[in-house]
Amino acid sequence: MDGQYLRMSEAKISVLDWGLLHSDATYDTVHVWNRRFFRLDLHLDRFLAGVERLRMKLPYDREQIALILNNCVALSGLESAYVEMICTRGSSPTFSRDPRNAENRFIAFAVAFGSVANKEQLQRGLHVAISDTVRIPPRSIDPTIKNYHWLDLVKGLFDAYDMGAETALILDSNGNIAEGPGFNVFIVKRGSLKTPRFGVLPGVTRRTVFDICAEIGLSAAAVHISPADLKDADEVFITSTAGGIMPVTRVDGTQIAHGRVGAVTQRLKDLYWQKHDDPAWSTAVVYP
Ligand code: PLP
Repeated sequence: MDGQYLRMSEAKISVLDWGLLHSDATYDTVHVWNRRFFRLDLHLDRFLAGVERLRMKLPYDREQIALILNNCVALSGLESAYVEMICTRGSSPTFSRDPRNAENRFIAFAVAFGSVANKEQLQRGLHVAISDTVRIPPRSIDPTIKNYHWLDLVKGLFDAYDMGAETALILDSNGNIAEGPGFNVFIVKRGSLKTPRFGVLPGVTRRTVFDICAEIGLSAAAVHISPADLKDADEVFITSTAGGIMPVTRVDGTQIAHGRVGAVTQRLKDLYWQKHDDPAWSTAVVYP
């Protein structure tokens, strides 16, 4: 933070930062698995594109950011980590209300790897509920800029808990499935994969599923998916940097794949983790 490496407990931002006051920030999260970053280039591409679209300026270039992320992991000593890079609007020395006067702030941190689904949920599949909450529309907030506009997702999560589920999917403005708190969703129907195309963050894990499908000859497409399509699917899984490919075996109380993790989901999940040692998809962390 602000050019220094700090202990997590010492890393603090100003209460006047627009990132806090207005969610005026963009960020990205990459993970390290067994001492290697997974698809770091794709995360840096998405982060730098978001910073530019929000008309923010970073004090570091791409290579310097990659080095800072490496150093955060190396200093933490973690072999598997969840690594976040953030650019906030920052604040203005004169308390100006004009965002052009703010001094943007870059923050990065590494913490232990975390997952949307816990061990038990990964084995038996997640129980998901569809909330009728509508994801903030792309004409309000461009979903390709990874952002902290999460009040809709958090409301969805509370709705899901009220319905006895473990996590949520929320809708787009046409009533189709959008995404969940920190993940994209896929369905498998008659051997083909589909994922929502509209109003979602283009996840790096989602992209990785497309890449693996292309390698093994499975068809995968981004299309509109209704709540009925989801419940009628042969298999359902969610994707996130926080956990990878995670099976879903219940949607709104309806069993998917007879309540068992489907064969396509399992195959993709295995291949996803195998890719983590492949130098074409991962980069070694340099530890001291
Ligand atoms: N959708 C939202 C809203 C997210 O915040 C995230 C990740 O945090 C995702 C989808 C999944 O993206 P990725 O696979 O790049 O982690």
